Amino acid sequence: MSAGREIPVILRASELRVATDAVRAQGGSVGLVPTMGYLHEGHQSLVTRSANENDLTVVSIFVNPLQFAEGEDYGTYPRDLDRDRQMCTEAGAGLVFAPPTEEMYPQTPITTVAVQGLNAVLEGRFRPTHFDGVSTVVAKLFAMLGPGRAYFGEKDYQQLAIIRRMAADLSLPVEVVGCPTFREADGLAMSSRNVYLTAEERPVATVLWRSLQAGRDAVAGGSRDPGEVEAVMAAVLAAEPKASPDYAAVVHADTLERPDVLAGELRLLVAARLGRARLIDNIGVDCDRL
Ligand code: AMP
Repeated sequence: MSAGREIPVILRASELRVATDAVRAQGGSVGLVPTMGYLHEGHQSLVTRSANENDLTVVSIFVNPLQFAEGEDYGTYPRDLDRDRQMCTEAGAGLVFAPPTEEMYPQTPITTVAVQGLNAVLEGRFRPTHFDGVSTVVAKLFAMLGPGRAYFGEKDYQQLAIIRRMAADLSLPVEVVGCPTFREADGLAMSSRNVYLTAEERPVATVLWRSLQAGRDAVAGGSRDPGEVEAVMAAVLAAEPKASPDYAAVVHADTLERPDVLAGELRLLVAARLGRARLIDNIGVDCDRL
């Protein structure tokens, strides 16, 4: 693809607002796909969905320091803006918004957004400051975008639940749209962090998907005891000596609470460390439609 045909990359929030206001002034709609870049087909599926549903699709690319804790991979997170821009163009986006850190945080924010409770369970137990960093930056992106839609992957299911709740609680004029997880042929959920996996670790990484399927099979087989289903999932993770599991959990799909007896719409979630990578994955199971 020739560079001249590629979509613009803008760096300033004021330029983003001019672009989205112009679309809305014509009666058009805008869609936002917030990302940290190093895009893959999973991200592109969100961009395509937004491009199908909106007149202008903006992909934001920002590695948000606020959502990384000390010792996490902020400094080494993979980055490739030229390739990302190409992938956004291919998928039908109209603009890339890639603000420098000083544009997003001209001063250290003392106003932050915390979606209490939802931010503390599951991932929150292992990354206690992570979701407040996410909800704060997404609230800022929504403010910069103005009214429209925003597309998030179910791959980060807890994040999607938190953003939905934040938008509702704060009456933000952005409709939050959840999109299915895009997977490699062997079931591994696509992730920018998969580049951390070595050739030996890569086949082992399917253990998350295998664990989720075993959990789903247990529910389909009639198990309604969350402890029993979690034990089935944990056993699959434990069978891979290279992987160090953080959790294998069954929760209610909306509240993220662990029910006493499994019923209705559930979410099965797993997290494990594998070499340099920390991987997460999840699937939905509807007890009424098995
Ligand atoms: P990230 O760049 O990892 O922050 O992800 C940006 C957005 O893309 C988030 O809404 C993710 O949930 C979504 N996403 C990441 N991986 C996938 C995937 N494999 N399938 C669908 N959406 C994804």
